[in-house]
Amino acid sequence: MLYFDIYCFSPFEFNVKTYIFDLPKLLFMRKMKNNINRRKFLSTGITGFTGAMVLSSPFAKGQTSEQEKKIVYRTLGKTGIKVPVISFGVMRADSPALCKAAYDNGINFFDTANVYQGGNNETMLGNFFKNLPRSSFIVETKVKPAGVGRDGLPTAQTTAEDFLGKFKESLSRLQLDYVDILLIHDVSNPELLKHKPLISALTQLKKEKKTRFVGFSTHSNMAVMLQEAANSDFWDVVLTSFNFMLNNIDEMNQAIKKAADAGIGIVVMKSLAGGFMDKERKKPVNATLALKWVLSNPNVHTIIPGMTSFDHLETNLKVLADPVMTEQEKQELLAMAGEPGLFCVNCNKCLNACPYNLPVPDLMRAYMYAYGYANLRMAYDLLGELGTGVSPCINCTECKVQCTKGFDIRTKIADVSRLVSMPADLIA
Ligand code: SF4
Ligand code: SF4
Repeated sequence: MLYFDIYCFSPFEFNVKTYIFDLPKLLFMRKMKNNINRRKFLSTGITGFTGAMVLSSPFAKGQTSEQEKKIVYRTLGKTGIKVPVISFGVMRADSPALCKAAYDNGINFFDTANVYQGGNNETMLGNFFKNLPRSSFIVETKVKPAGVGRDGLPTAQTTAEDFLGKFKESLSRLQLDYVDILLIHDVSNPELLKHKPLISALTQLKKEKKTRFVGFSTHSNMAVMLQEAANSDFWDVVLTSFNFMLNNIDEMNQAIKKAADAGIGIVVMKSLAGGFMDKERKKPVNATLALKWVLSNPNVHTIIPGMTSFDHLETNLKVLADPVMTEQEKQELLAMAGEPGLFCVNCNKCLNACPYNLPVPDLMRAYMYAYGYANLRMAYDLLGELGTGVSPCINCTECKVQCTKGFDIRTKIADVSRLVSMPADLIA
């Protein structure tokens, strides 16, 4: 992963020889780059988070009072929590220094999950949180229930005990007595929200004050899931995928409004639609515009863009101070929306099209992890979960899948599935 943060070529232009001979050099370059960014960040004056509304940009040279800008906050629905419109998607981050810099600049809402980095993401956050006043940050984590099928339905393995046990591990790793928001991870079927063992587990945790609020995350069938949340008074927060590349934006806007009107706190993920439009990573999504576009919906309360570098933080802090999008910026962003890009919009139109019943949207997600995020570990782990092997389409003579985004499904599956043959220790 480190390798590809430096050089934006195909992650698969990678083999054992280059790993052995080039990695020390590449790691050194990455370290230097981060040190420079970190030095730049620190030398330009972090102001320290005091809870005040005024943020001096630490990046601007020769600051003037005109350049001082407010952090824009919104209220997270009925939770009443005041959240900065840009929060921290910690999923891929591994640097407490980056978390601290974000925190010091007013980004005090951190999103993680039980499964991220095999639990190490929560552990890293726990080590960061332990020196902070508990009331000064907001933490959201997610627990994925066992036994949920590809159809999103619960099974006999989807038990309260499993869910409670995983959450107990999360609290221990986070070194906290409670989290602010606990989400069921990755819900795509409304039936899962009615599953009594999960409801009773969440009710118990709220009663025991181990979580203040409950909700779920969704990146498939999102409009339906948002409407479902709006129709119940049980849910406090929904974390939903939402970006300019979706092909049901009107439907999503209506569903988000309905949920927000019902008091649901709306948190958005996948706002950058995969980060790049091409596998060569030569055409990045304009992060500033993509974030502003999401925030132009007043019913979105905060976004959790993934941050892994001080450059990402710098970009996000600028949007945090000034999220207003001009009409020209909007047109510039939407001009990209007609291209296929790397982001599977999870329209699920392809679900039954493959005669071999391949999980095409999941495989496209693995492709996006590999090429959009340049995160081979996430792609590798997902491919392992899917169990589709190194040549899923080998027995098929003609691809029957018509993707609404125009993806060449067969080529992409063959491309990303090569990763399965890589030794696991080279991916780590
Ligand atoms: S080529 Fe297309 S239809 Fe055939 S197995 Fe692969 S995804 Fe399915
Ligand atoms: S049709 Fe294309 S965009 Fe829609 S879910 Fe399938 S792969 Fe994703």
